[in-house]
Amino acid sequence: MYKLIDGKHVAAGIRLEIASEVRKIRETGRKIPHLAAILVGNDGSSETYVANKVKDCHEVGFKSTLQRYESSITEAFLLERIVELNANTDVDAFIVQLPLPKHISEYKIIEAIDPAKDADGFHPENLGRMMTGLPGFLPATPSGIMDLLKYYDIQTRGANCVVVGRSNIVGRPLSVLMSQKGTDATVTLTHSLTKNLDKVVSEAEIVIAAIGSPGFIKAGMVKKGAVVIDVGTTRVPYTGPKSGYRLTGDVDFENVAQKCSFITPVPGGVGPMTRVTLLKNTLLAVKKVEIL
Ligand code: NAP
Repeated sequence: MYKLIDGKHVAAGIRLEIASEVRKIRETGRKIPHLAAILVGNDGSSETYVANKVKDCHEVGFKSTLQRYESSITEAFLLERIVELNANTDVDAFIVQLPLPKHISEYKIIEAIDPAKDADGFHPENLGRMMTGLPGFLPATPSGIMDLLKYYDIQTRGANCVVVGRSNIVGRPLSVLMSQKGTDATVTLTHSLTKNLDKVVSEAEIVIAAIGSPGFIKAGMVKKGAVVIDVGTTRVPYTGPKSGYRLTGDVDFENVAQKCSFITPVPGGVGPMTRVTLLKNTLLAVKKVEIL
């Protein structure tokens, strides 16, 4: 029987710890941690992510501010807003919600963020720090997954780990974190041009799927007793009563779960950990003197 990796539960515990730190900060009269966000346009998923981030800040006692702009703004305008946030001493950390409209370069925007305020951990300086094992801001989703593996005491040393998907925000940094000293997995990073992907995945003790293709990982691809982490969150149309869609993972959960030792659900697995890592990074930004 598989064990469900409950990201909601783990994230709630971390939020309680953060809230307790914020109470201490408040009691000693220090500045309340402040996470700011910039949202450009009105993409449905981005709206939901940002609303959740604001809600999380409220729950742990952080100050949060949201700047919203039309998708027609120019790259230069957005860069100016980033320069302002970098200089604003009341803002400890901030995020620019991705994706951005096509006429704005995500690379330029990420590079403009002060690495010491980079709550998402996407700035090349922070990615470089991660690569070399220096302290810094870790990208939120990979870091959240590492916390989940630790919480459930999943053995990574020498484990054969296959990461499916090589994005800069999930798959690639995860391959670095899983292979770092102390975690010690043997990692294979795969992508859309990987040959014999089924076979490669079937040899993994830990499978991490970050593709964005609902139900892509099938039971036949997964070794018995494997740990399966599903990062995928695709909105699939759904004729249910509420939003008209449901979030669907990259793993064919019902069938794959029967073969697993541990598996994350979607929703309620990796997503809540991504959110809570933003809060962790904001606290780290408050203590930045010690880390950067
Ligand atoms: P992305 O930038 O969309 O890239 C997808 C990756 O999957 C690419 O590396 C692509 O390969 C690979 N891929 C696509 N089709 C494939 C196939 N048939 N076989 C093998 N590899 C394939 O990825 P992302 O931004 O990491 O997002 C992936 C998913 O995770 C999405 O559903 C996203 O919504 C979700 N996500 C969830 C969270 C969370 O907190 N739960 C956070 C971030 C992202 P190529 O490089 O060769 O094109």
